[in-house]
Amino acid sequence: MKKTLFFSIFWLLSVVSLAQYDHFFEAATLRIDYIHAGTDKTEFYALENLIKEPYWGGSKTNLVDTLRYGDYFFEVYDNANQQLIYSRGYCNLFGEWQTTEEAKRVQRSFDESIVFPFPKHPVDVRFYSRNHDNGNFDLKFQIAIDPKDYFIKPAKKLPFAIFNVYGDKPSEQAVDIVILPDGYTNTELGKFIIDSQSFAKSLFAYEPFKSYQDRFNIRAVLAYSDESGVAIPADSIWPQTVLSSSFYTFDSERYCMSYDHTAIRNLAGQIPYDQIYILTNTEKYGGGGIYNFYSVSAAENSSSAKIIVHEFGHAFAGLGDEYFDSSTAYDGFYNLAFEPWEPNLTTLVDFDKKWKHLVGKKTPIPTPVTEKTIHQTGVFEGGGYCAKGMYRPAFDCLMHTFKGEVFCETCSAAIIQMIHFYSD
Ligand SMILES: [Zn+2]
Repeated sequence: MKKTLFFSIFWLLSVVSLAQYDHFFEAATLRIDYIHAGTDKTEFYALENLIKEPYWGGSKTNLVDTLRYGDYFFEVYDNANQQLIYSRGYCNLFGEWQTTEEAKRVQRSFDESIVFPFPKHPVDVRFYSRNHDNGNFDLKFQIAIDPKDYFIKPAKKLPFAIFNVYGDKPSEQAVDIVILPDGYTNTELGKFIIDSQSFAKSLFAYEPFKSYQDRFNIRAVLAYSDESGVAIPADSIWPQTVLSSSFYTFDSERYCMSYDHTAIRNLAGQIPYDQIYILTNTEKYGGGGIYNFYSVSAAENSSSAKIIVHEFGHAFAGLGDEYFDSSTAYDGFYNLAFEPWEPNLTTLVDFDKKWKHLVGKKTPIPTPVTEKTIHQTGVFEGGGYCAKGMYRPAFDCLMHTFKGEVFCETCSAAIIQMIHFYSD
């Protein structure tokens, strides 16, 4: 009886939310392309283009982002009554670049985009950045958009076939991953299809993705590059590729990313999607994953299965790195005076809001490393590139080293929560 009541309420809420979607949005996407520029201490936004894409791949019920992860956030308000109708947190390359030495010396600009369902009525869009001194979101930029504006451009239809790798659920009830190739020539697209199938196999080899695989769709856009491989600037290798991915991003050899965000969005927008995963045609170890931005990994590296789930952990679930060894030590990346937004890191400032409910009553906080505790959920010092003052939920986890085979209990819970957010 109780169960019936629960499902009735759940059903009713879904119907109300869907009605909300149909009232405010149509079945298409509004993409805002903008420039995000500045230095280590300054930033500004400038509008580039408004694009109408033909699909909406996201949820039609979870429109407002209640998790509020990410260093950046945007909100969409219905202009007539100032009701919040959509929001989403994300991260980007600009924010990471701001922590580099170069950002102290020079101003730089980055292409970025946000997407949300295409509005039926005029909206106000507000862009926020997280304040490093207090952890709150500060309003940085806002624009008013009339969906009838005749300068909103239709998206380019590109002449690339789509390959269905896995799943065929309605996109609003699934996590839709679009795989984009970089550095595969026309004659190498067969290899890209095989690499895309390996991607799906790798992802579903790990829990909790394995148990939830019926909530995923994976599709690949068969876009070819003029030349094979990706850029390695330190070796003067610069192939002409469709997404211009490059190792040595921010002069870090293993960090392989693309600055050509418009090209990425143009390719991804050929189908409905929630998450963008770029496979690079290279044997060289490297990649990266940025929350609600995109992930990249090398298709051919022997440890690529673990890299794939690690990077996807960042980009999909907002998981932070749990490592902190000296080679990656980076004091100051996090402000230890408040909680980081990542669900798997804590400063213990407000641990009740983190994974305390998963820690056994007898487990000490912080948790010492003993033969017994290394198999338990606890609060282990060291994480987020910081050896002191930052804590992680498990001795080891796929967000820590690639020696382990599993996500810790806290990371798994965060991934499952996000799967529900996209697919319920
Ligand atoms: Zn973890």
